[in-house]
Amino acid sequence: MNAPVAIEVMRERGQREVFCGLTGIIWLHRKIQDAFFLVVGSRTCAHLIQSAAGVMIFAEPRFATAIIDDRDLAGLADANEELDRVVDQLLARRPDIRLLFLVGSCPSEVIKLDLSRAAERLGARYLPQVRVLNYSGSGIETTFTQGEDACLASLVPQMAVVSGKPELLIVGSLADVVEDQLVGLLHEMGIDRVSCLPPRRAGELPAVGPDTRFLLAQPFLADTARALEARGARLLPAPFPLGIEGTRGWLEAAARAFGVPAERLDAVVEAPIARARAALARQRPLLEGKRIFFFPDSQLEIPLARFLARELGMQLVEVGTPYLHRAHLQQELEWLPPGVQIVEGQDVDLQLERCRAARPDMVVCGLGLANPLEAEGITTKWSIELVFTPIQGFEQAGDLAELFARPFVRRGLIAGATRQPVGEQAA
Ligand code: SF4
Repeated sequence: MNAPVAIEVMRERGQREVFCGLTGIIWLHRKIQDAFFLVVGSRTCAHLIQSAAGVMIFAEPRFATAIIDDRDLAGLADANEELDRVVDQLLARRPDIRLLFLVGSCPSEVIKLDLSRAAERLGARYLPQVRVLNYSGSGIETTFTQGEDACLASLVPQMAVVSGKPELLIVGSLADVVEDQLVGLLHEMGIDRVSCLPPRRAGELPAVGPDTRFLLAQPFLADTARALEARGARLLPAPFPLGIEGTRGWLEAAARAFGVPAERLDAVVEAPIARARAALARQRPLLEGKRIFFFPDSQLEIPLARFLARELGMQLVEVGTPYLHRAHLQQELEWLPPGVQIVEGQDVDLQLERCRAARPDMVVCGLGLANPLEAEGITTKWSIELVFTPIQGFEQAGDLAELFARPFVRRGLIAGATRQPVGEQAA
């Protein structure tokens, strides 16, 4: 790997406005279809998960909260005994569960409840029927996408050892439709042995070893990457598969590692790239020249900024990111326009001041900041929406651009409607 690119980064260590890692459960419980996420936390944690994930009326939910109450916090009850009781009840009622995550929270960390020992104890009781793992989704010094990183890192020690022919591992949750498309392209390129972490079912956990080469599908998986490297797997340096350039660069990294000739890669990507170009051309007039400001939230900010600047002609006012993993983002940083203001961490008041002074056309931020900024007349985009929506790959490039174009279209329609006389609106 080349030395990380030298780039000016401003660091801020002030008040932050981010969700906690429990948020990851919202997309992870849909991805691993026989897993269950038991948050060991407070009523606040339960409210966060329920309101963010929505209440499923017809389906049995695959997440819940074991509430730590005042007696636990005061040390009057044995929290481990209570947890065992809750798990026993849950697994008796839900024989479909194959993988149970005990998810730590701020309260479980405050009372120093050792969930790794609890997972070991319960795992010994329930294996081989149910595997019990733990990770932390606490909001102390983390941001919301780190929940997925912690979850996937907890799976790595469970992966069997593999050796022999080189295999490609795609690391990071992708919508199934996106995952199928990218795996399909890799197969067309002649790379047959491809697996994914997380798997769709607990029993399909891929194996890992020195012959594993892995591509990150998400930019927020530092701990998972480290755990895989400790198992001998090798990271393929690549951009992230957002937009045409990112997706092509990501596939190209696999092609280089697996000896796929350049002509074969070109032939495989030609038609999808043509479709993506046509889709982007429809959105570009709505976005070209518009000024965009990113608050740090999802850790997707830098690849998104690169895509919006290079493929849609948007101007980057400021690109904030909660954490900057320079080695994983090396290619992305090289592709950013020169002189762009990158900020790692957050001091929300200072950042709001800079944002208001700059008056950007669009702000990408968390839910907590979006409403006040909208009230000030600034168009916003919720960064969390970009984690839930299928945006990776060639076929989704147009949808990704449209996510940014839509707020401008909506604002234009509202402005048009408010300018029209009442009689015309009715017509
Ligand atoms: S884990 Fe912490 S930040 Fe997240 S909902 Fe629970 S108490 Fe709040």
